[in-house]
Amino acid sequence: MKYISNKNLVYAMSKKNHAVMQIDSGETVTLETLDCFGDYFYNTTVHNTAELPPSNPATGPIFITGAEKGDCLKITVEKIELGNKAVIESVENCDCLGKRVKGRKYKLVDIHNNHVQYSEDISIEMQPMIGVIGVAPENDEISTLIPGKHGGNLDCSDIREGSILYLPVFADGALLSVGDIHGIMGDGEIGYSGLETNGKVNLRIEVIKNFQILEPIVSYNEQLSLLSSAETLDAAAEQVSLAMHDFLCQNSTLDSEDIVRLLTLLGKLGICQAVNPMKTTKLSVPVWLLDKANVNLP
Ligand code: CA
Ligand code: ZN
Repeated sequence: MKYISNKNLVYAMSKKNHAVMQIDSGETVTLETLDCFGDYFYNTTVHNTAELPPSNPATGPIFITGAEKGDCLKITVEKIELGNKAVIESVENCDCLGKRVKGRKYKLVDIHNNHVQYSEDISIEMQPMIGVIGVAPENDEISTLIPGKHGGNLDCSDIREGSILYLPVFADGALLSVGDIHGIMGDGEIGYSGLETNGKVNLRIEVIKNFQILEPIVSYNEQLSLLSSAETLDAAAEQVSLAMHDFLCQNSTLDSEDIVRLLTLLGKLGICQAVNPMKTTKLSVPVWLLDKANVNLP
């Protein structure tokens, strides 16, 4: 099993990043990740937020042999192992809940037997997910704080154990990086963070040749979802709707008008996160519909 330690970090996804490992299509890799604060809160007892290291370190990048522009990566999330401590950050004036927060607040909690004992009465079962996962983008570098067509800071709670994520490839080798795992996160991430922790992620990574996708796609729990990011939720909602329509036009036996009608009946529009500089929406359709419409995802 290939292993990449949390000493191999990037803060932007870019074609210029040097790969820390090369793998073949179909291999499984374990990546050790830091939390979005670079594990700052676990390494010190006195917390001075002026000393916080850069946010959202991602481990990688991995060069996948044979991946080229126009292909896509099929990434199976086999396992997410959480650390034993985590942080919840609330930020004044962030979108959504920021008017109810003064300054920046950090609450440290322990993860124990796959639960966080938030208070005496409130225990929360973990639903581990990956916040940041992406490839080198088409053009300039993109900070690991930003989501987009290349993936990045998608903060989608469906990117979890048992899910399959498809990402477009823009650069030779794709250059995949992963970080910012969460023990759990509500849809929208409306107070500014998930349950931020470190850990290890096991991924099986395959190259699908000549399968071009326009946005990240995630398959989980009998739903297939497209993920789109834009400056506003309105724009992201339209973008993801049009992207799903285009995807079904290209990959199903349905015609354009039927796709519109079926999406208005069966599509579920949701919010991954509403607090990053680019907001991420998801549009989910049931897998049974895709089967009926002869969509064959590789
Ligand atoms: Ca995040
Ligand atoms: Zn996070």
